[in-house]
Amino acid sequence: MEGWMKFLSNHGIRDNDISSLRKLAGDNFDEYAVYPGSLQTAEGTTIFMARHADSKALLAFGGGSLYDELEGEAAEAGGRTVKVCDLSVENNKAVRRAFPFTRPSSHREKNITIGLGDRLGLASPAHIRLIRDYDVFPVLAQQSVRELNLTGRTFDGVLAAASWAVLQEGYTGGFGADGDHLKTHQEVMQALDCGYTMITLDCSEHIDNKAAALSGDELERQYLSLPGELRQSLESRYLGRRFALEDGLTIDFSPEELKKIVLIYHRAIEHTSDIYVNAIKSCGRSIDFELSIDETLTPTTPESHYFVASELDYRGIVITSLAPRFCGEFQKGIDYKGDHAQFVREFDIHCKIAGKFGYKISVHSGSDKFQIFPTVGEKTGGRYHLKTAGTNWLEAVRVIAELRPSLYRKMHTFALSKLEEAKKYYHIGADVKKIPDISSLEDGGLPRLMELDDARQVLHITYGFILQAKKPDGSYIFRDEIYDFLNKHEAEYYKALQKHIGRHLLLLGAKPL
Ligand code: ZN
Repeated sequence: MEGWMKFLSNHGIRDNDISSLRKLAGDNFDEYAVYPGSLQTAEGTTIFMARHADSKALLAFGGGSLYDELEGEAAEAGGRTVKVCDLSVENNKAVRRAFPFTRPSSHREKNITIGLGDRLGLASPAHIRLIRDYDVFPVLAQQSVRELNLTGRTFDGVLAAASWAVLQEGYTGGFGADGDHLKTHQEVMQALDCGYTMITLDCSEHIDNKAAALSGDELERQYLSLPGELRQSLESRYLGRRFALEDGLTIDFSPEELKKIVLIYHRAIEHTSDIYVNAIKSCGRSIDFELSIDETLTPTTPESHYFVASELDYRGIVITSLAPRFCGEFQKGIDYKGDHAQFVREFDIHCKIAGKFGYKISVHSGSDKFQIFPTVGEKTGGRYHLKTAGTNWLEAVRVIAELRPSLYRKMHTFALSKLEEAKKYYHIGADVKKIPDISSLEDGGLPRLMELDDARQVLHITYGFILQAKKPDGSYIFRDEIYDFLNKHEAEYYKALQKHIGRHLLLLGAKPL
């Protein structure tokens, strides 16, 4: 018999006494496997989430419109007819309709917002358990189109996973859903249609970094090819002027510098304006609009940042956050690499520009950057957005290395074999020669690989290959075993995530509530 059936069988608590039911579930989780926070009631329907058939299900009883809307199989438990429902997108939509706290919301007024991309769709409950004790707003759904393709997931599915996590934990503090690094109008509309509350527009394909190297006649020729009206308008607004920032800092533009910056960014600004007017502003909901200019090879100069911010402002484009490309290296899943003093100096100027125009600085590839977290917390005055994603997958890998070394060994070997292909998607500096040969490592030494930058990065960027790899008969090589393992070892996975992301919050200066 499933634990939840026992839970419903013989407790003598009235069905509408939710707080007593929650206490019973919480005190006896090992026996019933019913998630206490998920016990909710609306429209005459009582629902809860529980472990069911080695996985999880939504259970509903009591009749009512929500009950009718949910799709599932009827079962008998404790004298009631209970509907056993899959954690599907459709069932999640019904839950989102009935329970507003399970819907994502905008976070414009929140000071600290953290993107917690969950590639497997299993990590969000742990993030909630951690973050509910802090003054931090979590953006639980956060996937780029690249990540969706690499994991074989959809915008709908990612949002549903986050929303189920919110229900599982009974978390009513609000959460966001970020369509991350979207590039086209179509991608933005797709995410908005699914109910996403944040859009991160990636303008990298419209940023012409080659213009930075232009000079003399060629610079002049390209600049003069722009419409005269545009040039005059820009020159009158930027040349011969000095723009004041806090603490006596100023920004000004030499004629040559302005020409270059215009050539680098003007198409990106046009694109942003087009998306803002035709998708964000017209969508009828409050959307957190983030502009990302970080996916470029060269750092964003203060002048460039100021120019972009000022042009957005001039065109009436309201953004919640902007992600510049900072100096140094923000490689995936490892600490910051670069000149720390330079980072502090430049980050401070970026914060002052953002402050002047009223948005937040967004730090991308923000996981594991422990060296610079105190600077992020301090220089932003505790108002920032930070994105993490792959590190949550690496914590899953760490738990696998600890508790199922045989699976880890297979994943590790496979990851190394796919490294060159994976490098097409992600820039990393990993040196495979520095990774110990695992055939000479005892099982007990495997988890320590997750402390080595080179091994971390190899496992970090090959997640898509690992999750999608299939045998000749079409079945998955790793995916099902990974999900099955993490389902069985949920408590260990949650603990690892809470510890790892908790370290982030501490150094970032997030305040406990
Ligand atoms: Zn980015």
